[in-house]
Amino acid sequence: MGNNFEARILLEPGELPKEWVNILPDLPTPMTPLVSPMDGKPVPFEMACAIFPKECVLQEVSTDPIIPIPKDLREIFARTYRPTPLHRALGLEKELGIEGDDIKIFYKNESVSPTGSHKPNTAIAQAYYAKKEGVEELVTETGAGQWGSGLSFGCNLFGVKCVVYMVRASFHQKPGRKILMRAFNAEVHASPSRFTESGKKFYEKDPEHPGSLGIAISEAVEHSLRSDKARYSLGSVVNFVLLHQTIVGQETKIQLEKVGAKPDVLIGCMGGGSNFGGFIIPFVRDKLNGTLSDLEIIGVEPKACPSVCKGQYRWDYGDTAKQAPILKMHTLGHNFIPSPIHAGGLRYHGIAPIISNLYNNKIIDAVMHHQTEIIEVGLLFAKAEGILPAPETAHAVKEAMVQALKAKENGEKKTIVFNFSGHGFFDLSAYKEYMTGDLKDYELPSEEIEKALNDPEMPTVDESALFPPS
Ligand SMILES: *Cc1c(COP(=O)(O)O)cnc(C)c1O
Repeated sequence: MGNNFEARILLEPGELPKEWVNILPDLPTPMTPLVSPMDGKPVPFEMACAIFPKECVLQEVSTDPIIPIPKDLREIFARTYRPTPLHRALGLEKELGIEGDDIKIFYKNESVSPTGSHKPNTAIAQAYYAKKEGVEELVTETGAGQWGSGLSFGCNLFGVKCVVYMVRASFHQKPGRKILMRAFNAEVHASPSRFTESGKKFYEKDPEHPGSLGIAISEAVEHSLRSDKARYSLGSVVNFVLLHQTIVGQETKIQLEKVGAKPDVLIGCMGGGSNFGGFIIPFVRDKLNGTLSDLEIIGVEPKACPSVCKGQYRWDYGDTAKQAPILKMHTLGHNFIPSPIHAGGLRYHGIAPIISNLYNNKIIDAVMHHQTEIIEVGLLFAKAEGILPAPETAHAVKEAMVQALKAKENGEKKTIVFNFSGHGFFDLSAYKEYMTGDLKDYELPSEEIEKALNDPEMPTVDESALFPPS
């Protein structure tokens, strides 16, 4: 068993990172811009500012290697929940029969935020910029309800109105999330809804349509474009969200240094790629500049929605209604509607362009796991460490266990660090189904992926026109 002083590594509020890490200037191949679905050209600055808060648009394309976190924001983080703890998973190590310090497992605990996940790290920043720029309303979509709760909390801190379109499957599976959002004054609609043109198409055919993140995004974008005092808010995928999440990796680095630990493997679950991106990006810079050249970085996906493992790296619409910008990313196709697995936050058809770029350049790896195995591991983690993970997070726990057991078998020394993106206190139905034997696995058949990707409506973008010849 390890040194007890390593069990819970805490930072003082004064040790909060002062900067976000922008990985764009370090990427081995140039970052592709957001492209307009109207004409296949990069979204003009003014148009982007009609969709998102202006400061976020500037951050989206910034080439500064670091971006200062405003002092007011740092104060709010310090007052609410940051810095978050890094734990040595001594209970989990014991459960796996790991003794001594050859193999160490650490996890960064983002579940201590007021809404139980990493989402407020960007929600608070976006609400802060909205308020500063005179925006009165932020509109968004939510899958599992984590992002919707995060943004509701963030908006409420600044008195900005929050409107949330929640994927109907989750609206029913997770009623607690909807109540939490309303507790923070948000307006919440099940999606597809009858309040937007993009929702109505589906709603009128089937009022119980389970919905998808793609449809909910279309609804939120449409709603936000109705008023010039409203903006759309995104909880994942785009560069500025991953940027805001780098506060997680920045803190983790300081905490590991405090106990003299050097990471060999970093692990996170991937939905749109924001918790994983924010956790790894400060370390990716070290991997690229040779300080941590042997670092292994693994993203984990559900077998029911493996955008990176089984999707293609190509241009695709961000949403089903083809209103949101086109992105170059690993995708299963914008028309793909994933099975209603409990890890609602991992049911997006694509993944962040930054993560896609890193994967395509072989800087990170990706693996997949089944729903029943991750829920089983979630229960084991709860017994060992005392926190019930969100089903999304349980994907990372599972892979950390796989890596630790592999190292044990091979007699290797390894420090494994994973991001504990959130707790599962609003996801108890997933655990209940497991306990009653009702939980099913879904694996996406290759024919379905092929069908979605061979859709004649997949966009094409002339890349030679995006980058001027140098
Ligand atoms: C939203 C969410 C995810 C997935 O989203 P990313 O943008 O990939 O991080 C993962 N875990 C939790 C707890 C979430 O709330």
